Amino acid sequence: MENKAKHKLILDKVQKSLFITLPISLVIIAALTITVFVLRRNDFATTVLIVTFILIDIVLILLFFYQIAYFYYKIRSNRTLLRENEYNLHRSNLFYNFETFARKINVTTRFMKRRKAYVIAFKPTKTSLNSSTITEVESEVNGYVADFLIEKFDKDKNLTNKHDAYCYSRGIFYIFVCDNNIDVNKLIIEIEEKIYQIEQDHDFRIFIQPNFGVAEYNPAEEKEFSIFELTNRAMEARENAERNFETVLYFSHSMRTKNDADDIKAISNAINNGEFVVYYQPKYNLTAHKFTSSEALIRWNSPTRGLLSPYKFISTAEHAGLIHRLDMFVLEQVCKDLAETRRKGRRLVPVSINFSIYEFFGNNFVNNVIGVIEKHKINPSLIEIEVTESTTGVNQFLTISILKKLREYGLRILMDDFGIGYSNFNNLRTMPIDVLKIDKSFVDNIVTDVKSREIARFITSLGLQIGLEVIAEGVDNAKQVEILKKFKCSTIQGFYFSKPLPKVEYEKFLANNEFEKGAR
Ligand code: C2E
Ligand code: MG
Ligand code: MG
Repeated sequence: MENKAKHKLILDKVQKSLFITLPISLVIIAALTITVFVLRRNDFATTVLIVTFILIDIVLILLFFYQIAYFYYKIRSNRTLLRENEYNLHRSNLFYNFETFARKINVTTRFMKRRKAYVIAFKPTKTSLNSSTITEVESEVNGYVADFLIEKFDKDKNLTNKHDAYCYSRGIFYIFVCDNNIDVNKLIIEIEEKIYQIEQDHDFRIFIQPNFGVAEYNPAEEKEFSIFELTNRAMEARENAERNFETVLYFSHSMRTKNDADDIKAISNAINNGEFVVYYQPKYNLTAHKFTSSEALIRWNSPTRGLLSPYKFISTAEHAGLIHRLDMFVLEQVCKDLAETRRKGRRLVPVSINFSIYEFFGNNFVNNVIGVIEKHKINPSLIEIEVTESTTGVNQFLTISILKKLREYGLRILMDDFGIGYSNFNNLRTMPIDVLKIDKSFVDNIVTDVKSREIARFITSLGLQIGLEVIAEGVDNAKQVEILKKFKCSTIQGFYFSKPLPKVEYEKFLANNEFEKGAR
């Protein structure tokens, strides 16, 4: 049997046997403690013996509880992993997800004695142009690739060592190898050949073309080791390889252009200097004749460049890994504003917040969101989450479970920009959503273009039929409102009613506006 598997087996056996040995030792020591206590003589040695026994008892009890907690945690995370893999890889195995992968590497790198390390990122199939949804066939292919990696890394003891790891996350496989002498290219060629072999054996009707991105960590050049940075680099290199039709590309810093680097620094400074502000755009409910909610939209109030639209910085912030701070800033600011409005006894309406695709898969997303809401003692019914279809397409399993948790907590979920980009009707069936927002591009031409009008009519009635609230966004004139009213669209957002406003003006608008007075 291979060394690695043997070690694992022995470790498993030791851990399991602790369940029996710990309580037995506990009983024996407790019996000894009682015996010594009953037969005690009042001398120093007996007292020391009793105290020692009691201390051993306490340690054993703590160890026993630790063991139970550890097993409970392991069973729970294994169950999640199994379900995830059944969904993503059509396999009932414990193939790592990114979280487990990163945790393992962070533990083992402490012992890796400053060796070179590599992360290889690859995707067996070509990313299709019109969809980021991982299809059934892709999952099938990925399942075979997962089988191969498990076999290779468990069996090939010449190639791998105990620090190595692999995982699957959002359609991409990552391999971490840590060795000064490893031939990465040889490993890549072997994987590539295997993927084409899998294709030949099964005749999948899908475009198989793996592109590999590699990131190298060299302790002689870089002090800090971060598995997140290394996987990001490998992912960037892979994306470059795919765009440039290269099979393998190694990450180089020139892939990140100077402009990007400047922008990233500027955004990061702006966050620290408090230059971001939240604007609110009210949404009008045609049935209630009232503004019943609003959307929080971020702005960058730059001292040098003026007030900047999110289109100018969101995508850079996403790629630089800064979006989490921006989105959490918006959530925090919205909660603060709601708490202040409540304190002043002014009118409170629910606010929806946009969350970026990258956000969902970060550590503890759900707990972070709930934490902020609780900190400000905000009623969950006052917070809504806007997700786009690209968010929902990336890793459906995780997204569904995250959205479910948020919804169980009491937040409403809105699907933003419905109908463009990664449209997928299946999402309407599987995603736990409450509201559908028809994309602005359909509303724009609703008056003059029959096709846009019919699509908007169709989306509205589909949404209503399946019990969702339907919001039309980007509405900027009365004719559009009339048409949407006829379609029975319940809520309207757009410049016709109000542009996004800074908090003070938004509060004034809610307190006094011609639409509610005239109930148009
Ligand atoms: P979105 O979530 O679809 O937001 C609606 C956008 O449409 C807003 O642009 C809003 O100002 C604009 N809009 C609303 N009514 C009209 C109208 O009648 N006419 C026109 N021409 N535009 C209208 P904005 O504020 O520039 O935001 C653009 C996008 O940036 C948002 O699209 C959203 O995807 C993203 N975004 C904004 N704030 C945040 C944020 O805090 N976090 C994240 N992750 N993304 C954000
Ligand atoms: Mg939105
Ligand atoms: Mg939108």
